[in-house]
Amino acid sequence: MSGLYDQQNIFAKILRGDIPCNKVDECDHTLSFYDIQPQRKVHILVIPKGAYTDMTDFCTNASAEEQTAYFAAIARVVGIAGLEKSGYRLIANTGTDGHQDVPHLHIHILGGEAVGPMLHRKA
Ligand code: AMP
Repeated sequence: MSGLYDQQNIFAKILRGDIPCNKVDECDHTLSFYDIQPQRKVHILVIPKGAYTDMTDFCTNASAEEQTAYFAAIARVVGIAGLEKSGYRLIANTGTDGHQDVPHLHIHILGGEAVGPMLHRKA
């Protein structure tokens, strides 16, 4: 767990129950909920319950049980959302260059329609 973790970030507040979310799935180590500003027909966020700022923090500091549970949750949510056959995109924005807005690890699951090219080409 990073010493730099901000306990006031919006996902920490959701985990504490201070603000609501539209829940898709939950287990001992993860919570999944619909993004409040969906960018595609299906847009779900999967977060660990532990206080990890980003993927680097999680991969470095989370227990094997937490890591296994996190990836199992992604597979479960993909199934709940019915995305296995049509496909989907996972995004984990990280840090400044990665344009991460909320400093609690989250993976975006996007699908339900063609999500388009991975990145806009530079001019
Ligand atoms: P990122 O830019 O990768 O940090 O993405 C943060 C995501 O969190 C954005 O897609 C937001 O729409 C989403 N978001 C922010 N606040 C909430 C909230 N209260 N409930 C659900 N999603 C949220």
